[in-house]
Amino acid sequence: MAATSRNTPSALRRGLLQVAALMGAGAHGALAMARGKTPDKNTRPAGLANFQGEVVTRSDSRYLGWFWAMSWYRIKPHRFPSMFVQPTSREDLQLLLKFANESGQRLVARSSGHNISNPVLAQDAITVDMSLFDHIEELDTEQKSVWAGPGVLSETLNKQLFAKGFAFPSAHTGFVTIGGYLLGGGMGWNMPQWGMGCGSVLAAEVMLADGRIVTTSEIENPDLFWAMRGVGPGFFGIVLRYKLRIHEAPVVVKNTYFYAIEQVEEAVAEYLKLLPQSANRSEILGAIGKFNPPGTPKGKEAWHWVVNIMSYGATKEEAQAAANVFTQAPAISKLAKAHTAGNVPLTYLDLYSQLSTDFYSQFRTSEIALFTEEPGKAIASLAKTLSAKALDPRSFGFSVLGTNPTVPEPCSFTYAAPHYLSWYLIGTSKQDVAKNYQLADELHAQLKPLAKGYYINEIDLTRFPSLVRECFSNGKWLRLHQAREHYDPHKRFVSYLDAGK
Ligand SMILES: Cc1cc2nc3c(=O)[nH]c(=O)nc-3n(C[C@H](O)[C@H](O)[C@H](O)COP(=O)(O)OP(=O)(O)OC[C@H]3O[C@@H](n4cnc5c(N)ncnc54)[C@H](O)[C@@H]3O)c2cc1C
Repeated sequence: MAATSRNTPSALRRGLLQVAALMGAGAHGALAMARGKTPDKNTRPAGLANFQGEVVTRSDSRYLGWFWAMSWYRIKPHRFPSMFVQPTSREDLQLLLKFANESGQRLVARSSGHNISNPVLAQDAITVDMSLFDHIEELDTEQKSVWAGPGVLSETLNKQLFAKGFAFPSAHTGFVTIGGYLLGGGMGWNMPQWGMGCGSVLAAEVMLADGRIVTTSEIENPDLFWAMRGVGPGFFGIVLRYKLRIHEAPVVVKNTYFYAIEQVEEAVAEYLKLLPQSANRSEILGAIGKFNPPGTPKGKEAWHWVVNIMSYGATKEEAQAAANVFTQAPAISKLAKAHTAGNVPLTYLDLYSQLSTDFYSQFRTSEIALFTEEPGKAIASLAKTLSAKALDPRSFGFSVLGTNPTVPEPCSFTYAAPHYLSWYLIGTSKQDVAKNYQLADELHAQLKPLAKGYYINEIDLTRFPSLVRECFSNGKWLRLHQAREHYDPHKRFVSYLDAGK
C-alpha cells in the first residue's frame, strides 16, 4: 500500500500502470516469454498427464522464467519450488490435489505474487498459480453482490463495477489481485467508511487439501470463513472465487498538504482533533519521503510528510462538506509548507492514478506495517530515521490516520489500534538488501514500543518471522491452529503456521 501525489501527465501514468500490470499481476511479461518456448518433453509427472494447464518442473527449460515471474519482487529469495503449475479449471486443481496427496508434495497458492515475504516461492513445494481464475461473474446490482476469482486485479474489478455505479474496497494499487489481499484483511480505498476489504466478503468457494470444494460463509463452514478473513499468507486451502458485497461508488474530493518533518507531531495532533467531526467520511493518507511540491528547484528537495485527504460522499456536495472539515481548519494549512491539489474532484476509478510509489514497488526489499494509538510520535520517529539513513531516497513510509481497521466479527483479523504506519525500504542489489536489513532492524526496534499490533499482509516474514504472532490475539492464534488442523491435517499447504503455536 502507498499513496502520494504525482507530477507526471495522466496519460503516461495510465500507460505505465498498464505496463506494470502486465509485468506483475499475471506476470504475463515473463510468462509470455517463457511460454514462447516449447515445453520440454517428458518433464511432466505421470500423475499430471491430464492436467490441462501449464506444468513447469525443474528440468523444464522454462523453469527460470517462471521462477522470475511468480514473485513481484526484483530480488528473489533463495528458495526453489519443485514445480510451477497453472490450473485452468477446477478439474485441473482436483487432479493436482490428488497428485500432491499421493506423492506427499506440499502446495502454495499464488494470485499475483505481491506479498513481500515471497511465500509463493517455497522450497520444494508446488507453486499453484491461480492467475487464470480471474472471472468476474453474476454481478447483481439489486442484491449488491458479485463473484470474482482470486486472479482478478483491483482496478479491473472496479472498472467493471464502476460501469454499473458500484465499487469495491480492493487494494489501492490497481495491479494487486484480490486473492491474497482479501485473505490478510485488505486495506482499500474509503476504509474509514467501509472497513477492511475482507469485511465485504460474503462467501467464498475453497478447495480443501483433500480435493473437496466447499462454500464458506457465516453459515456454511463458518470456521473456514472465520479463518480466511484475516489469516493472510498462511491460508490452508485454495480460494476458487469470492462472493463480494459491492458498494455504491462514491464521489471523491482530494486535497494535498506538504509538512516539514519537524512539524509532523504538531500537524498529526491537529488532524486527530478533527477526526471525530469527519465521521469516517475522509481518509488521511500520508506519505513520508522525498516527495516535494511541483516546481521545487533541483537540489532543494527535502523529506516531507505529504498528506492526501480523500473525502467521500454520495454527491460532490457531500464529499466537499467532508473535505471542508480539514481544509477550513486554520491549523491544517498554517502548519503546511504547501497546499496543492485543492479540492480536486475525482471518481472512484481516478483513485488508481494517484499512486507514484507503485512504479518502483518491485524494488522493495523489506517492509513492516503496524497499528498504533500514538501516530504523531510514530510518524515523527520514522521520518527522522528514514530521512537520515535511507539507502535509496525512494524508500518511504506510509500512514493512515483513523483508518478504521475493522472486520465484522467473527473473523481471524485482529483489531489492534485505529492508526496505521508502514515503511518500505528500496534497494536494487543483494548488497542493498543486507544494508536495508540493518535499517529495518533499527526501525523495528525503534517503533516497537509504539506498535499495538502488525498487519499480516505487509510484514517481511523472511526477516521478522516472529512478527506473525503479533498480528493476532492469543485466542485467535490458537483458533487458527485448530482450524488448520481440522481442514489441512497433513499440512498439505505451506503456511507460517508450520512454525507451531
Ligand atoms: C505495489 C503493492 C501495493 C499494495 N497495496 C496494498 C493495499 O492497498 N492494501 C493492502 O491491504 N495491501 C496492499 N499490498 C499488500 C498485499 O495485499 C499483500 O502483499 C497480499 O498478500 C498480496 O496479494 P496477492 O494476491 O498478490 O498474493 P500472493 O503474493 O500471490 O500470495 C500470497 C499468499 O496468499 C495466499 N494466497 C494467494 N492466493 C491464494 C488463493 N487463490 N487461495 C489461497 N491462498 C492464496 C497464499 O498463502 C500465498 O502464499 C500491496 C502490495 C504491493 C506490492
